[in-house]
Amino acid sequence: MTYTHNCEDCGNEWMSEVVKEDCPDCIIKDLFILTPEQDKAFKALKVAFKKCKKAGLFMYNNYGQLGVADENRISEYNDTPSPFADGYTAHNPNEFQLPCNEWADDPHYFHASSTKRR
Ligand SMILES: [Zn+2]
Repeated sequence: MTYTHNCEDCGNEWMSEVVKEDCPDCIIKDLFILTPEQDKAFKALKVAFKKCKKAGLFMYNNYGQLGVADENRISEYNDTPSPFADGYTAHNPNEFQLPCNEWADDPHYFHASSTKRR
């Protein structure tokens, strides 16, 4: 048996074999709601990023390792060989590991730890 559901919050209509379930669209939106403290911290991170760019920092990502250098000394960081060190052997002291995925260059999926609506 298939049931038709209508979300009172967003107007989404979907069908499933479950009698009663939360709206999948609203669950997805809820995944990205931050607490006030998280929102404040993330805004501070964005401000810090702008300050770094304004100060002339060249930023690069080496498999999740965030590195910076003076943009007046580095023009590019890519996979074309150059006479200078690569990202593995350069030992730039101005790096730190970002605690996040280094990339998502193919489909990646969020796995909710809770689908309970806030
Ligand atoms: Zn909804």
